Amino acid sequence: MAKKKKERKIHPEIIKLQELRRLEEDDKLTEEQGYEMDRLQTSRRQARVTLAPSLKCCKEIQDYPAVFFKIDYRNKEGKNSLEAAGGWHIEIPQVYDRDFYRTREWFANLPSPKFCPFCGTPLPKMRRKDPVPEFIATYDYDADYCNTCGERCMCCQCDPPEAAWEEDK
Ligand SMILES: [Zn+2]
Ligand SMILES: [Zn+2]
Repeated sequence: MAKKKKERKIHPEIIKLQELRRLEEDDKLTEEQGYEMDRLQTSRRQARVTLAPSLKCCKEIQDYPAVFFKIDYRNKEGKNSLEAAGGWHIEIPQVYDRDFYRTREWFANLPSPKFCPFCGTPLPKMRRKDPVPEFIATYDYDADYCNTCGERCMCCQCDPPEAAWEEDK
């Protein structure tokens, strides 16, 4: 039996931004509302970065986040971003993709790092928060739109799916 999908809420800042964008399209945006829009966009961009789990073991990894937490829903067929597993990742330069014809499977099998590359501290074990916080983006495998806000995935400003994870202490 399929589990009942929980409806996720749209963040109040996104609702306000959608309102302001409609005004902008109708050429009715005041200067003050323009500033409000900038402020909300910045706040959402910061939320996308700061709400995702990050390493705190040393100053270097905080200044240069070479290891980041990622939910691998793009590579796991049938799993959405609230069901797929998450893990610590490193980025492989794109040039390896093009020059060596790496496949989606190759990227999916990218081993997880075990230690901070700068100070050697073992990376923390992570678990999904229970309950999952409000305002989290939900992306289906291979979907173009976010199920939470209805925007295209690349334009979605919901809290990132990674924000549903925390350190398993
Ligand atoms: Zn470190
Ligand atoms: Zn969204």
